[in-house]
Parts: sequence; C-alpha cells; structure tokens
Amino acid sequence: MEFSQLYDHAKKKRNPREVSPFISAGSVAAAILTNNGNVYTGVSIDTACTLGTCAERNAVANMITNGENQIVKLVCVFDDGSIVSPCGACREYLMQLHPENHRMQILQDLPAGQTTTLKELLPEWWGVRRFAESTNTNQSSGAPVTPAYHNRSKKHE
Ligand SMILES: [Zn+2]
Repeated sequence: MEFSQLYDHAKKKRNPREVSPFISAGSVAAAILTNNGNVYTGVSIDTACTLGTCAERNAVANMITNGENQIVKLVCVFDDGSIVSPCGACREYLMQLHPENHRMQILQDLPAGQTTTLKELLPEWWGVRRFAESTNTNQSSGAPVTPAYHNRSKKHE
C-alpha cells in the first residue's frame, strides 16, 4: 500500500470535536499498516484528567485488539492535513511492540515522498538486548502469549 492511500485512511478519521466539556478528540489521526497488510486507525483523545492518548496509540490499541503487533508503515495527520511525527512516548511504545518495528517507515512529507524509520527517530534504543534474549517465540506471529502474572498465579494453586 502506498503512503498516499494510508494518508487517506488517516485523513478520513480526522474529525476534531468536543466529546464532552472535559474531553476533545480527533485533532490528530493515525493510520498504521501491518506486515499482514491490514490498516488500523485511531484518533487523539485529549482529556482534562491527563489520561488522554495519542492517535498512534489508539491505532495500536485497535491493532492489538485484532491480534497484530508488527507495523510496516505509519502516518499521523494533524487537523490541518499536515503530517506530524510521533511523540517520544509513542516512539518508545511502537518500538516495544515488535523486534522488527524499528524498520517501520514513517511518513514525514507526502508531496516530497519523504519518510524516516522508527530507528532513526529513536536511535540507540535501550530494549534491543531484551528482544534478542526473549524466549517469546510468538513475536512475529502475533499468537497469544500467556502473561507472566498468569503463570505465577498457577504456581500458587
Ligand atoms: Zn504520542
């Protein structure tokens, strides 16, 4: 899928609005393309209680809900249609999702066709060794993984 198509997916979801007197949404929209060719979208949610989330992370939540975690392309669109880059927290979150996510292409400028990679936005990432040492063989399949806390609770039964 071309970046122009992914941009259109995000732009269609962009819809700045007041959800309530405390919450606004949709000033930023994100679209992600997974290694399986699926597109997931999300919008920013800004709250008075500081529990809001970026559009990228809401798109990721949608992706994870549907059983995937490897991203190959990402587009974030601001309310004026311009491209924005993921914030620092989202860069970290995206990196932690999958050992190959550092390769994802992130759109920087649509008319110029300019992209960057997550690794370029977050160089010298601290978690590389943990991915290498991980015994989780389900990293690339997105198959269910039993959380560590679940294993612990069984020992006490
Ligand atoms: Zn963010």
